[in-house]
Amino acid sequence: MNELLDDLRAAVGERHVLHDGDLSAWEIDWRKRYRGRALAVVRPGSTAEVAAAMAACAAHGASVVPQGGNTGLVGGSVPDASGSQVLLSLTRLNRIRELDTANLTMTVDAGCVLQTVQEHAQANGLLFPLSLAAEGSCTIGGNLATNAGGTQVLRYGNARELCLGLEVVTAAGEVWDGLSGLRKDNTGYDLRDLFIGSEGTLGIITGATLKLFPQPAAVTTALAAVASMELAVQLLQRAQARLGAGLTGFEVMGEFALTLVRRHFPQLAQPLPPSPWMVLLEQSDTEGEVHARSLFESLLESALEDGLIADAAIAESLEQSHAMWHLRESIPLAQAEEGLNVKHDISLPVSRIPAFVASTDAALSKAFPGARLVDFGHLGDGNLHYNVQAPEGGSEAEFLRENEAAVNSLVYDAVVAHGGSISAEHGIGELKREELKVRKAPVALALMRAIKQALDPHGVLNPGRVL
Ligand code: FAD
Repeated sequence: MNELLDDLRAAVGERHVLHDGDLSAWEIDWRKRYRGRALAVVRPGSTAEVAAAMAACAAHGASVVPQGGNTGLVGGSVPDASGSQVLLSLTRLNRIRELDTANLTMTVDAGCVLQTVQEHAQANGLLFPLSLAAEGSCTIGGNLATNAGGTQVLRYGNARELCLGLEVVTAAGEVWDGLSGLRKDNTGYDLRDLFIGSEGTLGIITGATLKLFPQPAAVTTALAAVASMELAVQLLQRAQARLGAGLTGFEVMGEFALTLVRRHFPQLAQPLPPSPWMVLLEQSDTEGEVHARSLFESLLESALEDGLIADAAIAESLEQSHAMWHLRESIPLAQAEEGLNVKHDISLPVSRIPAFVASTDAALSKAFPGARLVDFGHLGDGNLHYNVQAPEGGSEAEFLRENEAAVNSLVYDAVVAHGGSISAEHGIGELKREELKVRKAPVALALMRAIKQALDPHGVLNPGRVL
């Protein structure tokens, strides 16, 4: 062990190998569900240092857990309890390397915080559209390792679609420089796509070339109250038909999710009276504010006339628009304040969502009387955060201990029956590993294991995660 620590110190410098003292900031996950103990926290400052640290770990057979902002929600970014894993924190890799305005690309270190990348694009009159509530802490490396989604997938796609090239350090400590800004490159297997979404189990992402877009001339936001999920889906179809690629966000929030926001963040104004469902629409317009507003007004007026919505409010200013988004983004935090819950980050064909919600809500209420359903998510992408909170006043810990497995199997059986996926955007990590084993086709699992074996034959990269 001492020899490994010495080699790691030689790789990244004495100051950046933390071995003694309180390492809990790196050892506990965001939800405080997983707590481990690291042999050391190693903080390389360059790709070469990552490579040297990986080579040292490979030589000593030590396993490595990569970590970015530690905001992942499936327990993939913290060490296990053995005290033998090296926690590789990538946050010192935080340089913007290059911005190419003609090619509409930006090349960054993997440890750059997402918000910093968004702001750098904006300062140069461009847009990096990946957007999620953890953007002030999560890193580009973590976003790519989990193929993060967020609120703009409807128009711009997941992290995968926003990445043109990668730089990766392999399990053996070699550097693969795949930092190309090419939009077309059919030279064999797509290594980039292999590492994206691999949750630190195939390689360490150290840099990325990201796609940028022109800034829209105006962005407008609206809230609409809808009586049922069926009507929300009809509103989505109408918004897509009327706004086309201008529709950049379509989020849904269940009434209980907004009740939790009212309870824990009473200072946040909710512009419309309570309704079974609230939809947040965002439109990005290439022409300007007046054009954007008139499109939105005519869409919402027609939806009101045809009974798709009961009420609507269009943001009058940037502040109001931010306030509407703030409501949506406060739901995960309000849930965390309320206590532990059984989380499901699922996707379904949009057309199946109303039937899924109706039948699964009813089945859960029958099987777990009093359980509270916190439904919200990216309806435009068919992605729901379909969470189950303990009955009011009950012990969340006890509810989880006694019911989590049964709740999961009820929900995931329904997801599969409706042609959906058990992980839409958060990944598998440790939380869903056992579920993946039984839900993924055996052929797919065998292919995944073969890839893992080829890229990480000694199983040092984030063992026990995903597979
Ligand atoms: P971490 O949590 O540090 O790591 C996540 C995984 O990636 C781990 O398995 C880790 O080992 C691996 N990893 C990290 N960095 C690297 C690297 N450089 N190379 C290889 N592997 C690496 N996700 C969504 O998709 N959409 C959302 O809307 C969304 N909203 C969220 C809201 C909140 C409030 C929170 C807390 C999280 C949310 N997430 C969302 C979860 C999301 O996965 C993360 O926020 C983000 O993508 C992870 O980035 P990170 O830097 O924090 O990664």
